Amino acid sequence: MIRIIPIQEAYKRKIERQERLKGLKFKCQGNCAYVGEDISPGCYGCFYSDASIIGVSLGRSIGLPDVCNRDCVYCFLPHQIQQNYSVPDGWRLTEEWKDAVRKYFMTEKQRIITDCKMQYYNFTGNSEPLLYIPVLEEMIKFLRNVIDPFMGTKGWAKVYTNGTLLNMDNILKLKDLEFDEVRIHPGATNFSKKVYDNMRLAVKHIPTVTIETPSWPPHREKLFEMLPIIEDIGIKHLDICQIEIWSKEQMEKIESTLGEIELYQVFYAMMDDGGLVEDIMKEALEKDYSYSVIDCNCFRALRTASLTNIYNNYWSLLNQKYPPEWEKHRYERKLSPRHRSGIWEKIIDVMGRRRAASRAGESAPRLG
Ligand code: SF4
Repeated sequence: MIRIIPIQEAYKRKIERQERLKGLKFKCQGNCAYVGEDISPGCYGCFYSDASIIGVSLGRSIGLPDVCNRDCVYCFLPHQIQQNYSVPDGWRLTEEWKDAVRKYFMTEKQRIITDCKMQYYNFTGNSEPLLYIPVLEEMIKFLRNVIDPFMGTKGWAKVYTNGTLLNMDNILKLKDLEFDEVRIHPGATNFSKKVYDNMRLAVKHIPTVTIETPSWPPHREKLFEMLPIIEDIGIKHLDICQIEIWSKEQMEKIESTLGEIELYQVFYAMMDDGGLVEDIMKEALEKDYSYSVIDCNCFRALRTASLTNIYNNYWSLLNQKYPPEWEKHRYERKLSPRHRSGIWEKIIDVMGRRRAASRAGESAPRLG
């Protein structure tokens, strides 16, 4: 049975649970609730208006089917379930897609008022993104070679995965492609040993490995078992997201699994988790785990929604500052003038290096 609860009741419950949790920290006017030192930089963009996010939904946003090798009850939208999907031979990023991205960032660069134009590249989907490695390769190369220099800042690139295909081969590919972060969803495999083993490999090669898995009541026991395991692995951040309802199919599957669900309106419908996330945070505080835990909750969702193009005008005026430590991180990712420069500066740079190489009797560098 689905019970729609009034927002007053839902928010009151949430705030009371937060008040009971001593040690809970807040940033961004209360929208960001977490424990630990700081959240993953990959989450900053959700709270901040003066930054730009591009989210690639593999495969629908590039004309390919949505394919995943799992079938989670709470998955947002229906998708094909296949274990061995491959991107069709000869698939190429279209010039239309590149033009649309260029145009988007031209507008975004004007909109962002600080001199450090920070952007976030999110690779996700109702799919398993690691089934689309050739697409990831082409897209990230384009974003690194064209959009990063244009914006003047190294964008934060993160890819979501259920972890099943995060083998050494794929980890090294993601590393070579300069992904900053991998987000692993262990709930998709009921917290399998294989996925924990893959996490152990990933932390050795990827700068930030975050666990993002939902606050799904049937996972309660497994979530608590996970906490010491990910501490031992060296995970830096844990993101517990509340279940968001995006489709009739998803809602029906959840209802038939749980029997009873309570939903309330945020921007979309959100499921009340009965306080599971606060219980997890309490445990992380009591056991003094080193990773941060963020509650990706209704207030995060409202914040992100208020930053969309339709609504950001007034809110942006009020919120054009990161917390200082986030601002520092953003400026640290500013590219040097050489990398920020356009093609002419690049040519001049390579010519200079060619002259130097010829003087030294070495082979000439090529233009990227
Ligand atoms: S792993 Fe992700 S995309 Fe795949 S079924 Fe689960 S929630 Fe959906």
